[in-house]
Amino acid sequence: MAGFKALLATKTDKGQSVNWTELTEDDLMDGDITIKVTHSTLNYKDGLAVTGTAPIIRRWPMIPGVDLAGFIEMSDSPDYKPGDEVVVNGWQLGESHYGGYAEKARVNSGWVVPLPKQFNCSDAMAIGTAGYTAMLCVMALEEHNVKPGNGPVLVTGASGGVGSVAIALLSKLGYEVTASTGRTEEEEYLKYLGASDVIDRSELSGKPSMLGKECWAGAIDSVGSSTLANILSQTKKYGCVAACGLAQGADLPTSVMPFILRDITLQGVESVMAPKERRIAAWDRLAKNLDIGKLRAMAVAHPLEDVLELAPLIVAGKVRGRVVFNIG
Ligand code: NDP
Repeated sequence: MAGFKALLATKTDKGQSVNWTELTEDDLMDGDITIKVTHSTLNYKDGLAVTGTAPIIRRWPMIPGVDLAGFIEMSDSPDYKPGDEVVVNGWQLGESHYGGYAEKARVNSGWVVPLPKQFNCSDAMAIGTAGYTAMLCVMALEEHNVKPGNGPVLVTGASGGVGSVAIALLSKLGYEVTASTGRTEEEEYLKYLGASDVIDRSELSGKPSMLGKECWAGAIDSVGSSTLANILSQTKKYGCVAACGLAQGADLPTSVMPFILRDITLQGVESVMAPKERRIAAWDRLAKNLDIGKLRAMAVAHPLEDVLELAPLIVAGKVRGRVVFNIG
């Protein structure tokens, strides 16, 4: 049986070691679909997993990589046939089920989303979990009646993956977008994506007041901690904040005041175990509402071998936009 290349994380006395290895299909985990993986990507969570900075991996050994795209080689499912191009995001890939940093994957057909015809597999990984989560956040704002014309929508972690895709989506939908970033030198990039205003993230990371000036009709926050608390205190009456991340921290030092005096909503967004119908809805919306030129401009292609150099950089907040790994 022909072998294929994979990155394998193994538990050691000192934590974990991550090494390139050769596996065969017999080594793959259970599933009714075998995929030839052509592309994967790097999310913040992948950075944490590969570097061992946080306990993302829950089964050892593990192939990291929470996302993959490619074509089906073998299917026991009536819904898919060999040659179909597909995307898999989350479902604990790279955590408890072998993930995307390998030339092959075996998964459950229920996890698979058909690749929308507007995208190729590289585009799908330029989107990846970060972009699909940005879409879920935009949908959450819409479902809470945050409309273009209600006022500025704030996007934090703006130069990162979730942030970059969120800006492109919101601006295409007609929202006025304010981008919050620690990298104000990226102003030109953020304005190209569609931000009309760029602020320094230090304006939002200090000690939060219980209620501040009403600034934001809505917000997409991938940062958490005092930044999220400040956003809540500055959200306009009836506004909504979609919170998906913790790049600054997992704490939330807030009060009930914005909720009981301004009727605002804090909507959590979780992508990993989102039901299939919600994923398909999000991918349909991405196909309709994401400017493909902007998507390609925010993505940088790398060979998969670069993952070991890039993982510490994304943990340090130093990766701009999205990384796409070409796997072959
Ligand atoms: P990225 O690293 O690409 O983006 C995160 C951005 O946050 C950075 O680029 C930086 O943007 C900003 N940032 C980094 N450190 C800090 C800090 N200390 N204080 C304030 N801002 C900071 O990561 P992703 O886009 O892949 O993920 C973003 C977050 O969303 C992560 O916490 C991730 O775990 C979470 N996430 C959650 C999902 C879910 O299902 N809920 C799914 C996907 C992601 P800048 O330089 O512009 O300030």
